[in-house]
This record gives sequence, structure tokens and C-alpha cells, in this order.
Amino acid sequence: MAAHQESFRQRYLTRPLLDWVRSVLPAMSETEREALAAGTVWFDAELMRGNPDFSKLLDMPIPRLSDEEQAFLDGPVEELCRVIDDWQITFAERDIPKAIWDFVKAQGFLGLIIPREYGGKGFSSTANSEIVMKIASRGPSAAVTVIVPNSLGPGELLMLFGTDKQKSHWLPRLADGREIPAFGLTSLDAGSDAASMTDHAIVAWGEVNGKKTLGMRINWSKRYISLGPICTVLGLAFKLTDPDHILGDEEDLGITLALIPTTTKGVSIGRRHYPGMQAFPNGPNTGTDVFVPMDWIIGGQDRIGQGWRMLVTALAAGRGVMLPAMSVAGMKVAAFSTGAYGRIREQFNLPVSRFEGVQEAAARIASDTYKIDAARRLTLAALDAGEKPAVLTAVMKYHATEAMRRATNDAMDVHSGKAVIDGPRNYLSSAYRAIPIAITVEGANIMTRSLMIYGQGSIRCHPFIQEEIDAAQMADDDEAVEAFDKLLYRHAGYTFMTLLRAAWRGWTFGLLARAPVEGREAPHYRQIKRLSAALAIVSEFSMVTMGGALKRKEMISARLGDILSHLYLACAALKRFADTGRPAEDWPLCDHAVRTSLNAADEALKEVIDNFPMRLVGWYLRLKVQPFGVVCSKPRDRLAQRVSDTISEPTAARDRLTQGIYVAADIELGKLDHAFRLMAELEPVKAVMRKARVRSVDEARRQGLITGNEAARLTEAMELVREVSKVDDFSPEELTGRKPAARKSRAA
Ligand SMILES: Cc1cc2nc3c(=O)[nH]c(=O)nc-3n(C[C@H](O)[C@H](O)[C@H](O)COP(=O)(O)OP(=O)(O)OC[C@H]3O[C@@H](n4cnc5c(N)ncnc54)[C@H](O)[C@@H]3O)c2cc1C
Repeated sequence: MAAHQESFRQRYLTRPLLDWVRSVLPAMSETEREALAAGTVWFDAELMRGNPDFSKLLDMPIPRLSDEEQAFLDGPVEELCRVIDDWQITFAERDIPKAIWDFVKAQGFLGLIIPREYGGKGFSSTANSEIVMKIASRGPSAAVTVIVPNSLGPGELLMLFGTDKQKSHWLPRLADGREIPAFGLTSLDAGSDAASMTDHAIVAWGEVNGKKTLGMRINWSKRYISLGPICTVLGLAFKLTDPDHILGDEEDLGITLALIPTTTKGVSIGRRHYPGMQAFPNGPNTGTDVFVPMDWIIGGQDRIGQGWRMLVTALAAGRGVMLPAMSVAGMKVAAFSTGAYGRIREQFNLPVSRFEGVQEAAARIASDTYKIDAARRLTLAALDAGEKPAVLTAVMKYHATEAMRRATNDAMDVHSGKAVIDGPRNYLSSAYRAIPIAITVEGANIMTRSLMIYGQGSIRCHPFIQEEIDAAQMADDDEAVEAFDKLLYRHAGYTFMTLLRAAWRGWTFGLLARAPVEGREAPHYRQIKRLSAALAIVSEFSMVTMGGALKRKEMISARLGDILSHLYLACAALKRFADTGRPAEDWPLCDHAVRTSLNAADEALKEVIDNFPMRLVGWYLRLKVQPFGVVCSKPRDRLAQRVSDTISEPTAARDRLTQGIYVAADIELGKLDHAFRLMAELEPVKAVMRKARVRSVDEARRQGLITGNEAARLTEAMELVREVSKVDDFSPEELTGRKPAARKSRAA
């Protein structure tokens, strides 16, 4: 073969640049590389590349539920919600009652994601999200029993990687609840850095049914495992070695996943943790010298060492479904109850929802609910269209759970004592206690924000970086120079165009960027374009100037991730507004949601520039992309008040916002809603009394301010208000557990 002829450019420019790239590339473990490669990119790439094509967003159809999915939601899900009693579960029984387990199994709740050919429901991600959202609105513990089997775990791993034999054995049994699954990854030493687990196995010969069998001898000690204490089959991650070289020359074979029936000799399950006072089964488990045959490896012997890749692939999509559904449920309950309670609870002779301090909190709840629910729907649409957007599902995991935390905190504050005192009448405190669970699982939030969102987004969404890294890692140097050379000049062109675009939009306040629609939404689209271009170029400069060190500069990368996330959330809110026919009543919600996110993105951009490690570059970037500082301001107070009003009055916008949670006349939320609607109806009567400074209904009647009929209705409504404002109290014996406490509370 002819020797490679290097051009002048390749020798004096490309090769030195390639050497430099190699020197600044972050050191990456195999597991990090696999995590980075998981899933697909979608609209996140548009936002990261600086010139989003909004038609890709606006043309994405929002999936509708099939008749069967809707019937399941209206039938078994409603029925399950009717019987769930969160106080009974978390306080009295500290366990999921058998009746609920039986119902859940019989109705196929454990096989929502399992294909129909294996006896499951084969529902869409959208349907699964709606189902979990409704159940979670009745209490987190019951929801987790449905979430765990239908998210990352044995079922999903089998569907993606199982052998035909494994699928036909396990999937029907998982779908109908004959088997209860759990997945054990986390151990004492390995939490966020799960790949550093010390749980290990060696390839060994053993005996199964009297026959000499090739397999693995496994020792493990896992903790925090959901459904672990009651599971019948445990999916297990461990590191496999072959010290006796039974399989070949290689000794360290890597992370491997197996399915282990918990009746296997040496397996110990049963002890429980008590996470956030939630009663779903969660606990540690161990295995001592457990011998399992090779064909218990998920996907069979060929999948030895592929465990990490299998896990991150499954997680890439899964993160976008269950936790966002649970979070949105919490937010909708917060919006529904805070609007109503703020309206009926009077202090200083006024509904507390009239006080600006309360309005500020209510507006945050309502606009976040609108936005996160919009992003939930949009991400589900992408998943149902076959995408596995790993970056966006991480965005959803982080922002949905954080928004739920904010909304629940605000709701607790507005309800004050009513939310603090625990008991069957309290519809907020259980979710409040459960929030740290959602924050922690599937990638604890600090790490998700600081490391994962931008870390993965910057490389996966970039038009050239991944290919350049691949080129830099080629074994043949000449081939590497050739490949790198081709990419380099396209990359330089992209950077130049992005810089021009970012500067142009920065200096013109984004006003000249093209929006996909006319009217009041248009300025928001323009700001998204301005900030997207700024993100693309600041990201480019960050990677070039910091190289591998950017991985350790988490405060910078977290903020770059915030810009991407908030642009996505703003897009989702605008798309929701368009998809729902642009109802005028919803505009304050959408407008407030978008403004909040654009302000957060603009502030994050400023903070990145303010803290840019190379100060000269920071000044240069400020001059180019943010010459006038933060342009997108927070929503004005008047807008916040209008948003607060949408949930503090019985509006159609409130109904749309909180659609999908369980509300019935005989539960606390239903009673609250009834009192709220009555009081809203009687507002003109109350206004007359307020104006006359008369508080007593009898006095108002005596003075002829209101009619007899109005007085009767007001008295009835005020009695309902007093009833729903009550909290529980208990005898000391009930609290110490010496007598069953459930439903023995009195109200005060
Ligand atoms: C109720 C509950 C249920 C669970 N269910 C399961 C289950 O079914 N199966 C299972 O295998 N596991 C399960 N887990 C484990 C869960 O996935 C881990 O708790 C999680 O991965 C975090 O690990 P850790 O708690 O040890 O925190 P640590 O890893 O000790 O992290 C501590 C803090 O450091 C931060 N951090 C760590 N590394 C970085 C970094 N590089 N950059 C920035 N911040 C970082 C984290 O964000 C966190 O805030 C469950 C946990 C809980 C609490």
C-alpha cells in the first residue's frame, strides 16, 4: 500500500491540533463512555446547536390514549385510587395491604410495559404516565408498587436484552404478578458511582439438579432495593471474574446482570428500610456463595460484561416516564389544593389567596405545574415516537422532581398548620416526606444536574465532537489525521457561523430572530433562539478552553445544563399552548412559565460568563453574547397575580391544569373542592358583608344585607369550610401504637 501522503495543512495544523485534542480529552472510564453513548438525541440537539428548527417541535404529534388505555384509566385505575388509603398504608399498617397487591396483580398493573404477546398490557409511555400520575395523586407508597415493576428492572431488561427462552419464561409471570421483581444495583460503597460496586462473582462449576453445570458463584450485599424485601426474582448487578480461566484468557469480565429467584440457596431478603416514612417495601439483601447457572445471565452468556451498557440503555428512556409522572401528580395536587384552600381560608376577614405573599407562592405552583406537565407530555411524545432521548430524560428527572419539591413546599406554606398536622385529613405531608426519594433515585439530583445533563448533552448534541473524539482515539495515526482533518474544517465553519449568530442576536436583543408564529408567543421564541445561540457558542468556548477539566468544573457545566433545560421547558410550555388551541385563559400560565424559564436561562448564562475560568475569554463572551446583561426579566407581579387567580377561582384553566389526578366527593380533596366552589359562588354575598364590615351571617341577615336564602346557603358553605379546615388529633395510645390508630382520629 502506498505510504500516506500528508498535506502541508495536515502536517502543520491538523496534526498539532489533533495532539492537543488528545492531551485535553477527559480521561473516561469504559462505564462513562457507555453511559455517554446511551440513547438518542432529539430536540435537545437543536437547542444545543444554536439555531433550533421549531417545526421539529411544533410538528411532533401529541399522542392520544387508545380506547383500551382510556378504559383502563377509567376502570381499574379509578377503582384502585378509590381503595388506596395512604394514611392507613403509611401509619397504621406500614405496608401495602394484601387487598391492594391482589387487585394490582389481578388487573395487570405489574405488566403495563410488557408486550401483549407475553401477557402484558403493552401500553404506550403516555398511558403509563397517566396511570402512574393518577395513582400517585392518592399517595406515593401505592404508586411505587406500580412504578418499580414498570420502570428500570427485570421486566425492561428482559424485553430489551433477554433471550427468547428467558422472555417466554419470565415475562408472562411478571405481567400477571406470579413473580414480583426488584433490581439490585446499589450497595454500601457504590451509590452514585454504581459501577464501583464490590459485589462480585467468579466463573465456577457447580451442581444444578444433580448435574455438573457451568455457572457463577456470587456474593453480594445490596441496600435501598425497592420491592427487594418481598421480591421473588431479583435482578442483580455484579462484577464477574474468571480467575481459573474457565471461559478464556481474560480474567476481569466486567459488570454482568443476572436474574436470581430469591428462593435460591444463599439469598437473604426480607429486612426493610423505612424511606421517608413510606411503606412500600424497600430494604437490603445479601447473597452468600450463591451458585447460579450461566443461563440466568440476562441475555445469556454472550452478555457477560455488558451489564453497564444494558443498564444505561434502559435508563435512558425510563427516566422520562415514571418519576416525571409522580412529580406532576404531586404538583397538580399542590395546585388543586392550594388554589382552593387559599380561597376558602380567611384571615383578617379576607381569603388568604388575596394576599400578595400567598399569590406569589400560588403563581409559582401553577406556572411550574403548567410547564413541567407540558414537558412531561412532550417527552412522552418523543418516547412514543421511538426516541430514547437520554439528555432530555435526565432534564425531566431533575427538573420534574425539583419542581415538585418547590411546589409542595409552597403548598405546605400556604396551608400552614393544616399541612403540618399529620393524619388522614392531611393530603400533602406524605408527598412532602417522599420527595427526597424521587430526588435521590435514578441518579441523585445534584449529580444529574452537575454532571449528567450538560456532560452528556455537550458531546451527544454537538455536530462534530463525538466524531472528533472517535478520530483522536483511532489506533492508526495516519487514519486519525485524515479523519480529523475532514472534521476540523467543518467544525471551524460551524463555530464561526455560531459566533456570528450569537453576537448578532445578542446585540439586537434577539428581536430580529425569526419566530415560527406571529403574535404574543413570537417574542418568546425569539429569546429562545438568542439564548440557544449563546449556549452553543459559550459551550464551544468552554470545551475548547477547559477541555477535560470541564468535567471537574461542575458549577460551570451545571449552569450550562440549566440553560439547555430551561430552553427545553420553555419550548414545552409554548408547544402545549399551541397544541391545546391557545385558550386565552391559559395564556397567563404559559407566559409566566416561559418568562420564568427564560430568565433562569439568561441568569445562568450570565453566571457562566461571570465565572469563566479564563477571564479574558469571559469578557470576550460577554461582549459577544450578552452585551446588555440579562435581557429576559422575571414575570411581573401583575402577571403572577393573574396566574394565582387561575387556581384560586373555579376556572376552566384550573380544571385543565389539574386534570388527571384522582378527586372524588368522599375524599379530602373532593370535599375541599366542593367547599371551594360553593364559596366562590357566594362571593357576591360575602363581598356585600365585607363592605359593610359585618362578619356574622345572622347579623347580615338582621341588617337586611343578605336574603334568607343567601344566609342559609352561606351558613352551609361556612360549615363545609370549617369541616375541611379541621386537622386530626389522637389519643396518646393511638400514637404510641398500642391501639390501632386508623380512622380513630377525631377532628379539631
Ligand atoms: C428509597 C430508595 C429506593 C431506591 N431503590 C433502588 C433500587 O430499587 N435499586 C437500586 O439499585 N438502588 C436503589 N436506590 C439507590 C439510589 O439509586 C441511590 O441512593 C442513588 O444512586 C444515590 O446513591 P447514594 O444514596 O449512595 O448517594 P451518594 O452516591 O453517596 O451521593 C451523595 C451525594 O453526592 C452527589 N454526587 C455523587 N457523585 C457526584 C458527582 N460526580 N458530581 C456531583 N455530585 C455527586 C450525589 O448527587 C448526592 O447528592 C434507592 C434509593 C432510595 C433512597
